[in-house]
Amino acid sequence: MDLHSVETYLRPQTFSAVSGWQPDWNWLAGGTWLFNEAQPQVKTLVDMQQLDWSEIEVTSAGLSIGATCIQNDLLAFSFPEDWKATEALKGAVKELASFKLSHTATVGGNICLALSASTFAPTMVALQARYEIWRPNGDPYFVEAINFQTAPKQTILQAGEVLRRVQISPDNLLQWRTCFKRMAVGTAGLAIAIVVTAYHPPTQRVRFGIGGSVKAPRLIEFSAIPTEKQLAEAFSEASLAAPLKELFLDDDRGSKTYRQHITQVLMKRGIAELSAGTDGKRRY
Ligand SMILES: Cc1cc2nc3c(=O)[nH]c(=O)nc-3n(C[C@H](O)[C@H](O)[C@H](O)COP(=O)(O)OP(=O)(O)OC[C@H]3O[C@@H](n4cnc5c(N)ncnc54)[C@H](O)[C@@H]3O)c2cc1C
Repeated sequence: MDLHSVETYLRPQTFSAVSGWQPDWNWLAGGTWLFNEAQPQVKTLVDMQQLDWSEIEVTSAGLSIGATCIQNDLLAFSFPEDWKATEALKGAVKELASFKLSHTATVGGNICLALSASTFAPTMVALQARYEIWRPNGDPYFVEAINFQTAPKQTILQAGEVLRRVQISPDNLLQWRTCFKRMAVGTAGLAIAIVVTAYHPPTQRVRFGIGGSVKAPRLIEFSAIPTEKQLAEAFSEASLAAPLKELFLDDDRGSKTYRQHITQVLMKRGIAELSAGTDGKRRY
Protein backbone atom coordinates (compact mmCIF):
# COMPACT_ATOMS: atom_id res chain seq x y z
CA MET A 1 0.00 0.00 0.00
CA ASP A 2 1.04 3.63 -0.47
CA LEU A 3 2.44 5.19 2.69
CA HIS A 4 0.98 8.68 2.39
CA SER A 5 2.84 10.12 5.37
CA VAL A 6 6.29 9.38 3.89
CA GLU A 7 8.02 12.53 2.64
CA THR A 8 11.63 11.34 2.33
CA TYR A 9 13.21 8.15 1.10
CA LEU A 10 16.88 7.56 1.91
CA ARG A 11 19.00 4.83 0.35
CA PRO A 12 22.38 5.02 2.12
CA GLN A 13 25.30 2.97 0.83
CA THR A 14 27.05 2.98 4.20
CA PHE A 15 25.81 3.03 7.75
CA SER A 16 27.87 6.13 8.55
CA ALA A 17 25.91 8.03 5.88
CA VAL A 18 22.83 7.79 8.10
CA SER A 19 23.04 10.76 10.45
CA GLY A 20 20.63 12.89 12.44
CA TRP A 21 18.14 10.12 13.20
CA GLN A 22 14.66 11.51 13.98
CA PRO A 23 11.74 9.86 15.84
CA ASP A 24 9.69 9.68 12.61
CA TRP A 25 12.40 7.79 10.67
CA ASN A 26 12.07 4.07 10.09
CA TRP A 27 14.40 1.37 8.76
CA LEU A 28 13.07 -0.36 5.67
CA ALA A 29 14.24 -3.94 5.09
CA GLY A 30 12.06 -6.24 2.92
CA GLY A 31 9.05 -3.97 3.47
CA THR A 32 6.55 -6.86 3.68
CA TRP A 33 5.14 -5.52 6.91
CA LEU A 34 5.91 -1.81 6.44
CA PHE A 35 3.99 -1.64 3.18
CA ASN A 36 1.22 -3.91 4.43
CA GLU A 37 -0.45 -1.44 6.77
CA ALA A 38 -0.69 2.31 7.29
CA GLN A 39 2.29 3.84 9.10
CA PRO A 40 1.05 7.38 9.90
CA GLN A 41 3.97 8.02 12.27
CA VAL A 42 6.62 7.42 9.56
CA LYS A 43 7.89 10.39 7.54
CA THR A 44 11.28 9.06 6.39
CA LEU A 45 12.13 5.57 5.20
CA VAL A 46 15.78 4.52 5.41
CA ASP A 47 16.18 1.67 2.96
CA MET A 48 18.78 -0.88 4.07
CA GLN A 49 19.15 -2.66 0.75
CA GLN A 50 22.33 -0.86 -0.38
CA LEU A 51 24.14 -1.52 2.91
CA ASP A 52 25.07 -4.96 1.66
CA TRP A 53 24.28 -6.74 4.92
CA SER A 54 22.80 -9.89 3.42
CA GLU A 55 25.66 -12.32 3.98
CA ILE A 56 25.41 -15.90 5.20
CA GLU A 57 28.88 -16.83 6.45
CA VAL A 58 30.30 -20.04 7.82
CA THR A 59 33.55 -19.41 9.72
CA SER A 60 35.45 -20.82 12.67
CA ALA A 61 33.28 -18.48 14.77
CA GLY A 62 30.16 -20.32 13.62
CA LEU A 63 27.27 -19.06 11.54
CA SER A 64 26.71 -15.39 10.80
CA ILE A 65 23.56 -14.15 9.09
CA GLY A 66 23.36 -10.53 7.92
CA ALA A 67 20.22 -8.65 8.94
CA THR A 68 19.05 -8.07 5.37
CA CYS A 69 19.53 -11.69 4.32
CA ILE A 70 16.42 -12.64 2.34
CA GLN A 71 14.81 -15.46 4.29
CA ASN A 72 14.55 -17.75 1.31
CA ASP A 73 18.34 -17.62 0.81
CA LEU A 74 18.64 -19.80 3.91
CA LEU A 75 16.82 -22.60 2.09
CA ALA A 76 19.25 -22.56 -0.82
CA PHE A 77 22.46 -22.23 1.24
CA SER A 78 24.80 -25.25 1.63
CA PHE A 79 25.47 -25.49 5.35
CA PRO A 80 28.09 -27.92 6.73
CA GLU A 81 26.46 -31.33 6.75
CA ASP A 82 26.78 -31.87 10.48
CA TRP A 83 25.02 -28.57 11.28
CA LYS A 84 21.69 -30.31 11.73
CA ALA A 85 20.35 -27.34 13.67
CA THR A 86 20.07 -25.32 10.47
CA GLU A 87 16.88 -27.33 9.85
CA ALA A 88 15.22 -25.08 12.43
CA LEU A 89 16.24 -21.99 10.42
CA LYS A 90 14.73 -23.56 7.33
CA GLY A 91 11.57 -24.30 9.31
CA ALA A 92 11.36 -20.63 10.30
CA VAL A 93 11.39 -19.69 6.61
CA LYS A 94 8.94 -22.33 5.42
CA GLU A 95 6.43 -21.68 8.20
CA LEU A 96 6.37 -17.88 7.84
CA ALA A 97 3.49 -17.35 5.50
CA SER A 98 4.01 -17.81 1.83
CA PHE A 99 6.52 -18.30 -0.94
CA LYS A 100 5.98 -14.68 -2.01
CA LEU A 101 6.71 -13.32 1.44
CA SER A 102 9.82 -15.38 2.12
CA HIS A 103 11.38 -14.23 -1.18
CA THR A 104 11.20 -10.59 -0.03
CA ALA A 105 11.20 -10.57 3.78
CA THR A 106 14.50 -10.43 5.63
CA VAL A 107 15.72 -12.32 8.67
CA GLY A 108 16.36 -9.04 10.54
CA GLY A 109 12.95 -7.67 9.59
CA ASN A 110 11.21 -10.63 11.16
CA ILE A 111 13.25 -10.40 14.35
CA CYS A 112 12.94 -6.59 14.71
CA LEU A 113 9.24 -6.47 13.91
CA ALA A 114 8.92 -8.77 16.93
CA LEU A 115 5.41 -10.03 16.36
CA SER A 116 4.43 -12.72 18.85
CA ALA A 117 4.09 -14.97 15.77
CA SER A 118 7.70 -14.37 14.69
CA THR A 119 9.11 -17.62 13.37
CA PHE A 120 12.75 -16.55 13.76
CA ALA A 121 12.61 -15.28 17.34
CA PRO A 122 11.95 -18.68 19.04
CA THR A 123 14.36 -20.33 16.61
CA MET A 124 17.18 -17.99 17.59
CA VAL A 125 16.35 -18.51 21.26
CA ALA A 126 16.50 -22.30 20.87
CA LEU A 127 19.85 -22.01 19.04
CA GLN A 128 21.30 -19.64 21.64
CA ALA A 129 21.99 -16.98 19.02
CA ARG A 130 23.27 -13.54 19.84
CA TYR A 131 22.52 -10.35 17.99
CA GLU A 132 25.01 -7.68 16.96
CA ILE A 133 23.45 -4.26 17.24
CA TRP A 134 24.90 -1.01 15.94
CA ARG A 135 24.32 2.27 17.70
CA PRO A 136 23.81 5.37 15.50
CA ASN A 137 27.52 6.22 15.93
CA GLY A 138 28.48 2.75 14.69
CA ASP A 139 29.55 1.30 18.07
CA PRO A 140 28.42 -2.32 18.21
CA TYR A 141 27.08 -4.20 21.20
CA PHE A 142 25.75 -7.73 21.60
CA VAL A 143 22.61 -9.11 23.12
CA GLU A 144 21.43 -12.68 23.60
CA ALA A 145 18.38 -13.53 21.47
CA ILE A 146 16.38 -14.33 24.62
CA ASN A 147 16.87 -10.75 25.86
CA PHE A 148 16.04 -8.92 22.63
CA GLN A 149 12.24 -8.96 22.44
CA THR A 150 10.41 -7.70 25.51
CA ALA A 151 6.76 -7.78 24.38
CA PRO A 152 4.80 -8.05 21.11
CA LYS A 153 6.28 -5.44 18.71
CA GLN A 154 8.68 -4.28 21.39
CA THR A 155 12.44 -4.84 21.52
CA ILE A 156 15.41 -3.37 23.34
CA LEU A 157 16.40 -1.34 20.22
CA GLN A 158 16.73 2.38 20.86
CA ALA A 159 16.01 5.07 18.25
CA GLY A 160 18.36 4.75 15.27
CA GLU A 161 19.86 1.45 16.46
CA VAL A 162 19.93 -1.36 13.99
CA LEU A 163 20.29 -5.13 14.06
CA ARG A 164 23.41 -5.78 11.98
CA ARG A 165 23.74 -9.56 12.14
CA VAL A 166 22.84 -12.76 13.98
CA GLN A 167 25.61 -15.04 15.21
CA ILE A 168 25.38 -18.66 16.28
CA SER A 169 28.51 -20.14 17.83
CA PRO A 170 29.71 -23.56 16.62
CA ASP A 171 30.32 -24.59 20.26
CA ASN A 172 26.71 -24.21 21.12
CA LEU A 173 24.03 -25.92 19.19
CA LEU A 174 24.69 -26.12 15.51
CA GLN A 175 25.15 -29.89 15.67
CA TRP A 176 22.03 -30.54 17.69
CA ARG A 177 18.97 -32.07 16.09
CA THR A 178 16.15 -29.58 15.69
CA CYS A 179 12.58 -29.38 14.56
CA PHE A 180 10.09 -26.55 14.08
CA LYS A 181 6.43 -26.94 15.06
CA ARG A 182 3.77 -24.30 14.56
CA MET A 183 0.02 -24.26 15.08
CA ALA A 184 -2.46 -21.70 13.74
CA VAL A 185 -6.25 -21.63 13.92
CA GLY A 186 -6.61 -21.20 10.14
CA THR A 187 -4.14 -22.15 7.44
CA ALA A 188 -3.41 -18.50 6.57
CA GLY A 189 -3.57 -17.18 10.15
CA LEU A 190 -0.85 -16.08 12.52
CA ALA A 191 0.51 -18.80 14.78
CA ILE A 192 -1.08 -19.33 18.18
CA ALA A 193 1.91 -21.43 19.28
CA ILE A 194 5.41 -22.14 17.96
CA VAL A 195 7.88 -24.58 19.48
CA VAL A 196 11.43 -25.01 18.20
CA THR A 197 12.98 -28.08 19.78
CA ALA A 198 16.74 -28.63 19.91
CA TYR A 199 18.01 -32.00 21.15
CA HIS A 200 21.54 -33.27 21.76
CA PRO A 201 21.47 -37.10 21.60
CA PRO A 202 24.85 -37.75 23.34
CA THR A 203 23.82 -35.86 26.49
CA GLN A 204 20.03 -35.98 26.00
CA ARG A 205 19.85 -32.26 26.74
CA VAL A 206 16.79 -30.51 25.34
CA ARG A 207 16.01 -26.85 24.66
CA PHE A 208 12.63 -25.51 23.64
CA GLY A 209 12.31 -22.07 22.05
CA ILE A 210 8.71 -21.01 22.67
CA GLY A 211 6.91 -18.38 20.59
CA GLY A 212 3.46 -17.60 19.21
CA SER A 213 1.65 -18.31 22.48
CA VAL A 214 3.65 -15.91 24.64
CA LYS A 215 4.26 -12.18 24.62
CA ALA A 216 7.99 -12.56 24.03
CA PRO A 217 9.96 -15.70 23.17
CA ARG A 218 10.92 -17.97 26.03
CA LEU A 219 13.42 -20.75 26.61
CA ILE A 220 12.58 -23.91 28.51
CA GLU A 221 15.44 -26.36 28.88
CA PHE A 222 16.06 -29.76 30.43
CA SER A 223 19.25 -31.62 31.25
CA ALA A 224 17.62 -34.88 30.07
CA ILE A 225 14.57 -35.76 28.00
CA PRO A 226 11.63 -34.60 30.14
CA THR A 227 8.79 -36.82 31.25
CA GLU A 228 5.23 -35.68 30.63
CA LYS A 229 5.04 -34.57 34.28
CA GLN A 230 8.24 -32.54 33.99
CA LEU A 231 6.92 -30.86 30.85
CA ALA A 232 3.75 -29.83 32.67
CA GLU A 233 5.75 -28.62 35.69
CA ALA A 234 7.85 -26.42 33.43
CA PHE A 235 4.79 -24.22 33.02
CA SER A 236 4.35 -23.63 36.72
CA GLU A 237 4.67 -20.04 37.82
CA ALA A 238 7.84 -20.91 39.72
CA SER A 239 9.55 -22.24 36.61
CA LEU A 240 8.85 -19.33 34.32
CA ALA A 241 10.29 -15.93 35.07
CA ALA A 242 7.03 -14.03 34.63
CA PRO A 243 3.79 -15.10 36.31
CA LEU A 244 1.87 -17.36 33.98
CA LYS A 245 -1.18 -15.15 33.80
CA GLU A 246 0.95 -12.35 32.36
CA LEU A 247 3.01 -14.52 30.06
CA PHE A 248 0.53 -16.22 27.75
CA LEU A 249 -1.43 -14.25 25.17
CA ASP A 250 -5.18 -14.18 25.43
CA ASP A 251 -7.05 -12.87 22.38
CA ASP A 252 -9.66 -13.84 19.81
CA ARG A 253 -7.26 -16.31 18.18
CA GLY A 254 -6.83 -18.31 21.36
CA SER A 255 -7.22 -18.12 25.13
CA LYS A 256 -4.15 -18.40 27.30
CA THR A 257 -5.26 -21.84 28.54
CA TYR A 258 -5.61 -23.07 24.96
CA ARG A 259 -2.29 -21.58 23.88
CA GLN A 260 -0.52 -23.14 26.85
CA HIS A 261 -2.06 -26.52 26.07
CA ILE A 262 -1.07 -26.35 22.40
CA THR A 263 2.45 -25.27 23.36
CA GLN A 264 2.83 -28.36 25.53
CA VAL A 265 1.46 -30.58 22.76
CA LEU A 266 4.03 -29.16 20.32
CA MET A 267 6.82 -29.67 22.85
CA LYS A 268 5.85 -33.34 23.24
CA ARG A 269 5.67 -33.81 19.49
CA GLY A 270 9.02 -32.10 18.99
CA ILE A 271 10.97 -34.18 21.46
CA ALA A 272 9.17 -37.41 20.49
CA GLU A 273 10.17 -36.80 16.86
CA LEU A 274 13.78 -35.93 17.60
CA SER A 275 14.48 -38.62 20.19
CA ALA A 276 12.77 -41.44 18.27
CA GLY A 277 15.25 -44.26 17.85
CA THR A 278 18.07 -42.54 19.76
CA ASP A 279 17.65 -44.27 23.12
CA GLY A 280 15.33 -47.20 22.41
CA LYS A 281 12.45 -45.65 24.35
CA ARG A 282 9.04 -44.58 23.12
CA ARG A 283 7.57 -41.47 24.73
CA TYR A 284 4.18 -39.94 25.40
C1 LIG B 1 0.25 -12.19 4.64
C2 LIG B 1 1.29 -11.90 5.70
C3 LIG B 1 1.53 -12.85 6.67
C4 LIG B 1 2.51 -12.60 7.65
N1 LIG B 1 2.74 -13.59 8.59
C5 LIG B 1 3.66 -13.36 9.54
C6 LIG B 1 3.94 -14.37 10.53
O1 LIG B 1 3.35 -15.45 10.54
N2 LIG B 1 4.86 -14.09 11.48
C7 LIG B 1 5.54 -12.90 11.49
O2 LIG B 1 6.38 -12.69 12.37
N3 LIG B 1 5.30 -11.96 10.56
C8 LIG B 1 4.40 -12.14 9.61
N4 LIG B 1 4.15 -11.16 8.67
C9 LIG B 1 4.82 -9.85 8.85
C10 LIG B 1 6.15 -9.66 8.06
O3 LIG B 1 5.91 -9.82 6.70
C11 LIG B 1 7.30 -10.58 8.49
O4 LIG B 1 7.53 -10.51 9.88
C12 LIG B 1 8.62 -10.30 7.75
O5 LIG B 1 9.58 -11.23 8.14
C13 LIG B 1 9.17 -8.89 8.02
O6 LIG B 1 10.41 -8.75 7.36
P1 LIG B 1 10.72 -7.52 6.37
O7 LIG B 1 12.14 -7.64 5.95
O8 LIG B 1 9.74 -7.43 5.27
O9 LIG B 1 10.54 -6.30 7.38
P2 LIG B 1 10.07 -4.79 7.11
O10 LIG B 1 8.62 -4.75 6.79
O11 LIG B 1 10.98 -4.10 6.18
O12 LIG B 1 10.34 -4.18 8.58
C14 LIG B 1 9.63 -4.62 9.70
C15 LIG B 1 10.02 -3.74 10.91
O13 LIG B 1 11.33 -4.06 11.36
C16 LIG B 1 12.21 -2.91 11.30
N5 LIG B 1 13.51 -3.43 10.86
C17 LIG B 1 13.72 -4.23 9.78
N6 LIG B 1 15.01 -4.61 9.74
C18 LIG B 1 15.62 -4.02 10.80
C19 LIG B 1 16.97 -4.05 11.30
N7 LIG B 1 17.94 -4.79 10.72
N8 LIG B 1 17.26 -3.32 12.41
C20 LIG B 1 16.29 -2.61 13.03
N9 LIG B 1 14.99 -2.55 12.62
C21 LIG B 1 14.68 -3.26 11.50
C22 LIG B 1 11.56 -1.95 10.33
O14 LIG B 1 11.90 -0.62 10.63
C23 LIG B 1 10.07 -2.23 10.57
O15 LIG B 1 9.63 -1.52 11.71
C24 LIG B 1 3.22 -11.37 7.67
C25 LIG B 1 2.96 -10.42 6.67
C26 LIG B 1 2.01 -10.67 5.70
C27 LIG B 1 1.78 -9.63 4.64
